[in-house]
Amino acid sequence: MSKIMTIGEVLVEFIAAERGQPFNAPGQFLGPYPSGAPAIFIDQVGRLGKSCGMFGSVGDDGFGELNRERLKRDGVDIEHIRVLNNATTGSAFVTYHQDSSRDFIYNITNAACSQITPNQITRDSLSDCQILHVMGTSLFSFRVIEATQKAIRGVKANGGLVSFDPNIRKEMLGLPEMRDALNYILELTDILLPSEGELVTLLGTATEQQALDEVFRLGVNEVIVKLGSKGGRYHDRSGRHIDAPGFTVEECDPTGAGDCFGATYIALFGDDLSIEERLRYANAAGARAVTCMGPMEGASSMAELDEFIEQHAADIH
Ligand code: ATP
Ligand code: MG
Repeated sequence: MSKIMTIGEVLVEFIAAERGQPFNAPGQFLGPYPSGAPAIFIDQVGRLGKSCGMFGSVGDDGFGELNRERLKRDGVDIEHIRVLNNATTGSAFVTYHQDSSRDFIYNITNAACSQITPNQITRDSLSDCQILHVMGTSLFSFRVIEATQKAIRGVKANGGLVSFDPNIRKEMLGLPEMRDALNYILELTDILLPSEGELVTLLGTATEQQALDEVFRLGVNEVIVKLGSKGGRYHDRSGRHIDAPGFTVEECDPTGAGDCFGATYIALFGDDLSIEERLRYANAAGARAVTCMGPMEGASSMAELDEFIEQHAADIH
């Protein structure tokens, strides 16, 4: 039982060619790039040579083919990514503002990715799953939420673990079913991987410490907060925390960094490494990811991470 699995949206992404380019006027976009937070996550797990797979659905079109081929090439089991002939593959458009903030336009609620169904989640498909990773971005439809909850129950019943990256996108918070689903998942999460500030948003507390106290009370075992260029910080329920500084790189496209960071930390779970070492690899994966245009393009192999760490050892933040 050593497989890492995830569930959720497989998308293509188009990136506005110019910083500050608006969505309400014609302009150039780069893409299609394979994308979708869970797809990026599992691609990074596959690149590290770990056994992994994904539950998802794509259309019977070039965008779906692009994703399935990439994931397969990188070692992901795509048996449970269904190809639907009555829907098109989901897509996302992203534009970066001058201050580095970004906006998305998603085509997901009416796309193939919203048609993941609970009957895809069979006992067999989860039998060797050690860790199920869930992304908040995937909780955009009743069907996907139901399927996600079924997968979580299945993995927990087998004695597996759940890792959860809330990955809150402001464009999605308006969906009422999402809030309830977030709370449901939080209560069954073992490893929580929020971005900076997200814990407070998620829990509605005044301070991060109160949010940490609350998630540990709910049963979470460890929390790794992603801090962008500053790296990451690990907390556990005993009150211990470990700061892992980020690496200095030229940021080109930050989308996908959090997914690569989380994937690396989770993928190295079964290896004989200290938490500090896992965090160093995760920071290296996140840093490499931001240097590449395209959300999945910066996923790293173990050899690439080792080489990166060796080259950047001196210039940690
Ligand atoms: P996203 O959801 O967009 O993928 P996130 O908010 O989940 O991102 P970030 O904190 O932005 O996650 O990035 C994840 C990790 O990637 C960081 O913890 C860090 O290790 C690395 N990272 C991100 N940005 C930079 C940067 N500019 N320089 C170096 N490392 C970075
Ligand atoms: Mg994130």
